[in-house]
Amino acid sequence: MLRVDSIQRGIVLDHIQPGTGFSIFERLGLREADYSVALLMNVPSTKMGRKDMIKIAEALDLDLTMLGLLDPNITVNYIEGGKVVRKVKLGLPERVEGILRCKNPRCITSAEPYAPAKFSLVDRDKKEYACFYCGERLQA
Ligand SMILES: [Zn+2]
Repeated sequence: MLRVDSIQRGIVLDHIQPGTGFSIFERLGLREADYSVALLMNVPSTKMGRKDMIKIAEALDLDLTMLGLLDPNITVNYIEGGKVVRKVKLGLPERVEGILRCKNPRCITSAEPYAPAKFSLVDRDKKEYACFYCGERLQA
């Protein structure tokens, strides 16, 4: 396996679905990072066969709701002193505010750009969310 220096303090995103690591890397703005960041693709995994991973040598305040939407299978490992001090398994968020946009042109959030878009999870298997205002469904 490819070796990457282990980090002393920061975050490791593990169990990223292979092939999606790069888009997550971009969404998190890591291209502009001035600290060490590693994107690993197609790492062998006993659990998944293959996986992508992102190692960030910085204690970032990540938006876990957005990350969970992008890939609910991610495990977030918080590292301090070279050890994992906290593990968070993401899953799809129950409520999402301000990330998804309603596609219904009659919805109040389409007419009022300042109305905060709110969605709640209605079908976990289909990754389906319903708009809080009009009930329009969309797939995350
Ligand atoms: Zn709506």
